[in-house]
Amino acid sequence: MAAAARTLRIGLIPGDGIGREVIPAGRRILESLPSSLNLKFSFVDLEAGYGTFQKTGTALPDKTVETLKNECDGALFGAVSSPSTKVAGYSSPIVALRKKLDLYANVRPVKTTAGNSNGKPIDLVIVRENTEDLYVKEERTTETPEGKVAEAIKRISERASFRISNIAGEIALRRQNIRNGSANPTRDQPMVTITHKSNVLSQTDGLFRETARRALAAEKFSSVFVEEQIVDSMVYKLFRQPEFYDVIVAPNLYGDILSDGAAALVGSLGLVPSANVGDNFAIGEPCHGSAPDIEGKGISNPIATIRSVALMLEFLGEEKAAAQIYAAVDGNLDAAQFLTPDMGGKATTQQVLDDVLKRL
Ligand code: ATP
Ligand code: MG
Repeated sequence: MAAAARTLRIGLIPGDGIGREVIPAGRRILESLPSSLNLKFSFVDLEAGYGTFQKTGTALPDKTVETLKNECDGALFGAVSSPSTKVAGYSSPIVALRKKLDLYANVRPVKTTAGNSNGKPIDLVIVRENTEDLYVKEERTTETPEGKVAEAIKRISERASFRISNIAGEIALRRQNIRNGSANPTRDQPMVTITHKSNVLSQTDGLFRETARRALAAEKFSSVFVEEQIVDSMVYKLFRQPEFYDVIVAPNLYGDILSDGAAALVGSLGLVPSANVGDNFAIGEPCHGSAPDIEGKGISNPIATIRSVALMLEFLGEEKAAAQIYAAVDGNLDAAQFLTPDMGGKATTQQVLDDVLKRL
């Protein structure tokens, strides 16, 4: 007798701009997964973003948060546009959502495929702590006889450092599983690189480093090679030798900078996925913004979103489904027959989606 299918309920939050074009593509991918995976999906459409703010006075309606909390297993988030000048009462809904759902890890894989790497293939993931560090936004400015002095708190806790390092280790193990299941495993041992500046910031980054070491020394990570690098030399090496890296774990600020830098290594923003992850929830989110310059033209690249769908599924325990989606995307990119203009092609969002669906 066949096992009962698992049903996952997914919140869809297209947001603004091309978010409204790429999130439907993500939904189609979930609906079209091979039946052999024994997975079913139900969807709920949810509002958030600048458009929502203009309509309702809030960028993140309570209903969206409550529905995600009470009904959903995971979610897909498109993009929000940020007005160029500060608008009273408006703040980013995704930042608020991360807080409200305690999504403490921002996970950003950066990968080339055989066809689109100019040198050695890059296949790394940056795991960024998402709740503290300088981003606690506790700043103050004091007037002094010599002029103003501004200060900011950099908060690093043992708890946050431990859980981010633990999830980095788990990601390293899981990536190894997914790689070993593919035709071309690129690495024989999973590796985590701990990033810090503890030579200067011995207490804050020192605590991060020490705690990360302890978390990754757990028995379950005995197959993971753990190394560490000072963040500045890390940037140098990341650009010189990106193929060296596997999983990089970093406090919030370094992780933010490294994430965008690493994304530049693979070309279009339209390729890079991310996930916001907590202990019981994951939101897949393409790294790009609302891209007002191409909105409504039907040419936004759906790959970042499709990869975000796979990433979300990884964190919901569906590695096999994720691996199949990654393979279908790699197939599309390597064949290079249906690529959107940001990749130098002429295809539409729909044509790229259809090609990926065919490969699924
Ligand atoms: P926002 O304020 O929402 O971040 P933005 O103007 O900064 O908007 P981004 O979305 O960050 O725009 O995109 C930066 C550039 O990359 C734009 O030229 C955009 O067209 C391009 N781009 C971003 N995402 C995609 C995509 N999915 N497909 C094609 N091009 C993209
Ligand atoms: Mg932007």
